[in-house]
Amino acid sequence: MTTATETTETRKFEAEVAQVLHLVTHSLYSHKEIFLRELISNASDACDKLRFESIADPGLLAGDGDLHIDVSVDKDARTITIRDTGIGMSRDEVVANIGTIASSGTRRFLEAMSDGQKADARLIGQFGVGFYSAFVVADRVTVLTRRAGAAAADGVKWESDGRGEYLLETVELPERGTTVILHLKPDEDEFLADWKLRSLISKYSDHVAFPIRMHKSAAAPDGDEAAPAAPEWEAVNDASALWTRPKSEISDEEYQSFYKALGHDFNDAAAWTHNRVEGSQSFTTLLYLPEKPPFDLMMGGRDERKGLKLYIKRVFVMDAAEELLPNYLRFVRGVVDADDLPLNVSRELLQHNRQLDRIKGACVKRVLDLIEKLARDEPEKFAAFYKAFGNTLKEGIGEDPGNRERIAKLLRFASTRGTSTAGDAAAQTVSLDDYIGRMAVGQDTIWYITADSYAAANGSPQLEAFRAKDIEVLLMYDRIDEWMLGSLHEYEGKSLKNVAKGELPLDAADKARQEEAAKAAAPLVTRLKDLLGERVADVRVSARLTDSPSCLALSDYELAPHLARLLREAGQDVPDSKPTLEINPAHPLLQRVEAETDEVRALDLASLLLEEAEIAAGAPLADPAAFVQRVNRVLLG
Ligand code: ADP
Ligand code: MG
Repeated sequence: MTTATETTETRKFEAEVAQVLHLVTHSLYSHKEIFLRELISNASDACDKLRFESIADPGLLAGDGDLHIDVSVDKDARTITIRDTGIGMSRDEVVANIGTIASSGTRRFLEAMSDGQKADARLIGQFGVGFYSAFVVADRVTVLTRRAGAAAADGVKWESDGRGEYLLETVELPERGTTVILHLKPDEDEFLADWKLRSLISKYSDHVAFPIRMHKSAAAPDGDEAAPAAPEWEAVNDASALWTRPKSEISDEEYQSFYKALGHDFNDAAAWTHNRVEGSQSFTTLLYLPEKPPFDLMMGGRDERKGLKLYIKRVFVMDAAEELLPNYLRFVRGVVDADDLPLNVSRELLQHNRQLDRIKGACVKRVLDLIEKLARDEPEKFAAFYKAFGNTLKEGIGEDPGNRERIAKLLRFASTRGTSTAGDAAAQTVSLDDYIGRMAVGQDTIWYITADSYAAANGSPQLEAFRAKDIEVLLMYDRIDEWMLGSLHEYEGKSLKNVAKGELPLDAADKARQEEAAKAAAPLVTRLKDLLGERVADVRVSARLTDSPSCLALSDYELAPHLARLLREAGQDVPDSKPTLEINPAHPLLQRVEAETDEVRALDLASLLLEEAEIAAGAPLADPAAFVQRVNRVLLG
């Protein structure tokens, strides 16, 4: 038995890391090749970090500022080696970054991949666990790494077969940076082919801003067979920062492949905008709208938003999505390269930097321009984009008052005049401008209804009078709508109103009829008030109903019942408010109540009128068992 020195140890992965390893090896088999993109992406990040840190501490470079990434194969040993001259890792960093400790990304990746979610494993890089994709093709991975600035004696070797344990050893390493050696699995020989690796690099990593080098393919022997010359390195990627090139020289394919590398995505971007601002303050922005939501968007990744990289004069400084874009645009991916920010800028400084505020304003404007253009020129793409990100965009109505009108213009809703062309009535395709364009002369209100599903909105008794008068109503049934409407009272000079609230749009003849009906039904109303007593705030004759017997009406400041229910379920304190019941005296059920002489049966009927209205409005039944008994009594009676 060899004596283990104190520098050598074997450690177990945390359960979650082991799960990721297992999942990765089993779910990525049809997209094995992404391991190369992920490892090169890490090497590139490491070069970025060293370049940035060396600005404050030039000694870190130790006289060698040549940052590059070398990819080589050893056919006999069946290994692929990816080496970078970047920042490297200390022993503790190795443990924290690729070792024992599960990161928050590990957990999110597992959740995203669970049966309920079924994310595509190719998105692994978006979760900050891309390194583990190495185990898709390798049954053993060796990492040799030395932190820039550390002594040669402080190199670290990490090795694992990806099954639950890894070995950690302190070793002598002559150079800084990281070497990752993949010992290929028996069936993975295709990755030993030079052309295969070259084609993967150009497919996935062409726009890495550091040279990715491979050996020049074996040249003709130079006469001396016994001593072949050491192979020469040649760069196989473009290694220019794409955003610094003129737009006219960049093809769509190049933009798309840059997006994919940037966002660790495999889908195309839906659209992008690339601009250079020259002037007292110069900067370049390249911003993308994804086609599909990145996973962290849905999974509460709001704390650690990634995907928008801040460069200062081509030096990567940090992921600064939060500093560069408001929350409601968190789906945007891209690069901002500023010429005039100080390179030693910190996150704290960025948050209070006037120059950055200007850049942020420009980014928001560019993104809104881009979405508008998509809506105008590519309706189908816009529809797909809106489906993925519409609800995120709605947050901007409250979050960004300065752009409220512009954002509102981009919103789309279902409507009582839904466009049947799409075949899907619930489709959200009607804009506020569409609505206004169809308004009758004299109408000054945009009417909407909120509910917790399309069916509940579309089937609500509240809509009857509007349908009868042929007034369009927007059907809002996303959870965020109610919240959004709290900040959207007006659009283009028209006020937005909930059909369940306040006064209805009645003309003089309507009003006269309404007063007549109210007078005629006064005894019935009094009877219902007596029967329902404490359960209602008021009972009145409705102008909203034509077919249904009853509905709930809301006062201007009252929460919609379905929303009150949601908030309560979420543990919030919602003040109790008694409902106002509106009735349709022309309905046979109300005539039954009026004619009913048996007090017990009259009470049953009155209660059912209230309960039906509550159900239609999405309010929970106070006493479901009593409701069922009542229904049965009425059915049998
Ligand atoms: P991510 O790159 O999103 O952070 P990865 O799983 O790809 O997630 O890598 C995990 C971490 O391991 C990196 O954040 C980095 O700290 C470290 N790491 C991986 N590869 C390298 C490398 N070549 N050089 C330095 N650090 C690395
Ligand atoms: Mg990575």
